[in-house]
Amino acid sequence: MVTDNLKQDKSSLQVVADEAPFRQVHEPVPEADITWRSPRRDAFWQAIPAWKDVDYDTFIDHKWQERNAITTPQKLLSAVQELVSEEFLDDVRKGFGEAPMAVRISPYLLSLIDWEKPYADPIRRQFLPVASQLEPDHPMLTLDSLHEQDDSPTPGLTHRYPDKALFLTLDTCPVYCRFCTRSYAVGLDTEHVEKVSIKATEDRWDRALAYLRTRPEVEDVVISGGDAYRLKAKQILKLGHSLLDMPHIRRFRFASKGPAIQPMKILTDHDWTNAVTEIVERGRKLHKEVCIHTHFNHPHEVTGISEDALNLLFERGITVRNQSVLQNGVNDDPATMIELSRRLSFINVHPYYVYVHDLVQGTEDLRTTVKTAVSLEKHLRGATAGFNTPTFVVDAPGGGGKRDAHSFEYYDRETGISVYTAPSVKPGAQFLYFDPLRTLSPSVQRYWQDEKMRNEMISAASLEGKRQRI
Ligand SMILES: *Cc1c(COP(=O)(O)O)cnc(C)c1O
Ligand code: SF4
Repeated sequence: MVTDNLKQDKSSLQVVADEAPFRQVHEPVPEADITWRSPRRDAFWQAIPAWKDVDYDTFIDHKWQERNAITTPQKLLSAVQELVSEEFLDDVRKGFGEAPMAVRISPYLLSLIDWEKPYADPIRRQFLPVASQLEPDHPMLTLDSLHEQDDSPTPGLTHRYPDKALFLTLDTCPVYCRFCTRSYAVGLDTEHVEKVSIKATEDRWDRALAYLRTRPEVEDVVISGGDAYRLKAKQILKLGHSLLDMPHIRRFRFASKGPAIQPMKILTDHDWTNAVTEIVERGRKLHKEVCIHTHFNHPHEVTGISEDALNLLFERGITVRNQSVLQNGVNDDPATMIELSRRLSFINVHPYYVYVHDLVQGTEDLRTTVKTAVSLEKHLRGATAGFNTPTFVVDAPGGGGKRDAHSFEYYDRETGISVYTAPSVKPGAQFLYFDPLRTLSPSVQRYWQDEKMRNEMISAASLEGKRQRI
């Protein structure tokens, strides 16, 4: 009897194996193709000659990262001169000469660049300008294209949306990005730009906090900069507790590029990480959400160090969301964006926004079109969980705020003009975005150089925008 049963069991197992019980809707994905679950853990920084003997513990020490930050073109050139051609060095030297941003690159970022292919490398493109790739600015560009200063009741505080405010707490960052929207205020003055001051002075902070106390409708504050990574632990505590003490403030975010470009600080700067944790935990007891918004742009920025750092934040129950900037030759193809979303999801970072590149001085080569954004959006939607699918937005020049990239009233691919409205932000107003000239026909590019033609193209687009409004 017993043996009979066994026999029967065996034979039914056989049936299972022979006639697979699942209909194979898709072929299983080969392990080797699941690239987003194995971030690199090699000693990649040792490829930089000066750091060939630097061990892991030294490399992840945030003080070492600060001490070895690359802060001048000369330091950069000497760090990599043995790895690149003379022609490339010269190109970077000239590129820096024309850049509106100050220079600062973390050793982590510098060593993630593939120095065998520096021209194509997506991290190099974001942080190091090369003169041969620069393009003239679009004629519609102004320095503060988002008009953050126009919507500012007190220096460094922008109150544009009904229930949220943006507080620029300080003017420094752990790195300076070529594409920074706030190049009007962030970093040191350069040869080309004298900056607006948003220094971390007590007086300026007190005025911003005092304003927020008088505005019961504000529930949400973005603490940005500069970058919250540069705030000292005691500044995080002061600001965090002051905001938590205001009953109407229900949520706020620390905006920092740090987790993407210097993740080791989370692991080794215990004072900083503990300060953020203290605010998040007190917030949670008050039923208020405090989280971190960060800024990864390319899958290469996610390493084993990022994984360890983000796991630590996750264990502490700290929500982290990501806001990318869409950049030509960096992340403007579906495969890269899908890989980025998956890698971020793997380290529990929610892809929140992808911004169409703002009109920023000296970065025309990095901008893409609204069409690119709409096409990428189609590819991403459906590739993974909806809550790990970013929304593509255009931060409409002129202060309209963020609009869904595909929600234009009108879009003329020939002139590259898209027209947006923002009924809850600036009722009745129109906001125009301009595709980079490189993507337009040679004749239309010439029209843009002519003031009369330019005005005609703009008024024609506005009229169509009104006519076709949905
Ligand atoms: C982006 C931004 C915010 C926050 O907007 P969300 O869509 O909630 O992320 C707030 N104020 C200003 C001025 C902003 O630019
Ligand atoms: S870290 Fe942010 S604020 Fe600082 S330069 Fe980069 S984009 Fe600008």
